Amino acid sequence: MRINESVYSTLLDRSLRLGIADIVEKIGNGLRLSVKDGLRLYACPDVNFVGSIADWVSRDKNGEVVTYILNRYLNYSNVCILSCQFCAFYRRNGQQGAFTHSIEELVKETEDAAAKGATEVHCVGGLHPKLPYSYYLDLIRAIKEKLPQIMIKAFTAVEIIHLAKRIAKKSIQEVLVDLASAGLDSLTGGGAEIFDPEIRKRICAGKESADEWLEVHRQWHNLKKKSTATMLFGHVETLAHRVDHLSRLRELQDETKGFCAFIPFAFEPENTKLGNIKKATSIDFLKTIAFSRLFLDNFDHITAYWISSGMAVAELALNYGADDLHGTIEKERIFHMAGSKTPPGQTVATLRKTIENAGKIPIRRDTYYRKLEPSSFLPAKV
Ligand code: SF4
Repeated sequence: MRINESVYSTLLDRSLRLGIADIVEKIGNGLRLSVKDGLRLYACPDVNFVGSIADWVSRDKNGEVVTYILNRYLNYSNVCILSCQFCAFYRRNGQQGAFTHSIEELVKETEDAAAKGATEVHCVGGLHPKLPYSYYLDLIRAIKEKLPQIMIKAFTAVEIIHLAKRIAKKSIQEVLVDLASAGLDSLTGGGAEIFDPEIRKRICAGKESADEWLEVHRQWHNLKKKSTATMLFGHVETLAHRVDHLSRLRELQDETKGFCAFIPFAFEPENTKLGNIKKATSIDFLKTIAFSRLFLDNFDHITAYWISSGMAVAELALNYGADDLHGTIEKERIFHMAGSKTPPGQTVATLRKTIENAGKIPIRRDTYYRKLEPSSFLPAKV
C-alpha cells in the first residue's frame, strides 16, 4: 500500500486509541481481515477514521479515478408471486397498478436511451406467474438485434430460479446458457438482501436461500460472465449479519473472480410493510461503504448508489472507499416506489461535477467496469 511512513504512523497512533491498531496494521500490510476483525472494525464509532483508511486502499486500487455509467432502468413487469416485506414495487397479476410491458415497448425505451448516449440497460422485474420463457429470451434478442452496442444487465438470481423451476422447467445452468446465448451480458446483483436464513425468513420468506443466490452467480461466472453483488442493509439485521453477508461474497469471489463490484444500499421503509423502521443514517451508509472497501479485499470496485444515499452523501462516499458513482440511472422505479426522495435520474454533467467536487477524476465506464475514456491519471496497473 502506498501510505508513506509519517501518515502511516499517525494513522496507527489514532487506531491505538480506537483499539483497532492490529486491524489497521493488517490492512497496511495487505493482509485479509477475519470475520472477527470485521466485527470490531464495523463497530468502530469513528467513521471518518475508518473512511480515511478505506480511501487509501481505494486510491491504491484505482488511483484518483471514479467511474460512472450512462444507463437506463427497464422494469418489464412488477407482477410478482412473492410479497417481500421490504418491497413496495410488486403487485399481483390484475391488481391495480400492475404493469407488464411488451417487448416492443422495451426495445423502444432502449432505443431512446441509446440515442441519449446510454451504454447499458438494467432490466429486472417481479416473478411473473404467466409470462412465457420465450418472452425473456426474445426480449434480450430483440434489444441486441436492434442495438448491439448496448450491454444488457438483467435479472436477479431469484428471477433466474423462478424461470428455471416454474416457467422453463430447466436447470439453472440451462437457463443461464440460454440467456447468455440470447445476448445477456451481466446478471444484476439484486435479491441478495442479507444472507442469514433467519433474516431472510423475516423479510423475504419464499425467496431463494443464500446458497441458491450464490450458486446462480457461481454458475454464471463459470460461463465466463460477470455480475455485481449487493447488500440491502438497515432493516432488521445486525452488524454480525452484514459481516457474514460480505464474508460469503468474498468467498465466492475468491473462487470465481466474477463480481465486478459491490453495491450496498439502505432499505427504504416508507411504503413497505416495515414502515415502522427508521431509514439507516448517512453515517451508517458511509461506514458501510468504508467497511466494504476494507473487508472485500478481492473486489476491484465499490459503488456508491446515489438513489439510496442521496447525491450529497454519495459524493462523500467517494472519499470513504467508493470508486464508482452509479450512474445516470434513468427511470429508476423500485426505490422510488418505496419512497426514495432522490431524482429519477441524473445528468452526466451532474455526475461528473459531483466526482470532481470530491477531488476525483470522472471516467465513463461500461457494464463490466471497463473505462471508456483514456486518462493519464490512472495508476499503472489500472
Ligand atoms: S423484492 Fe422482488 S421477489 Fe420480492 S416481492 Fe418485490 S419484486 Fe417480488
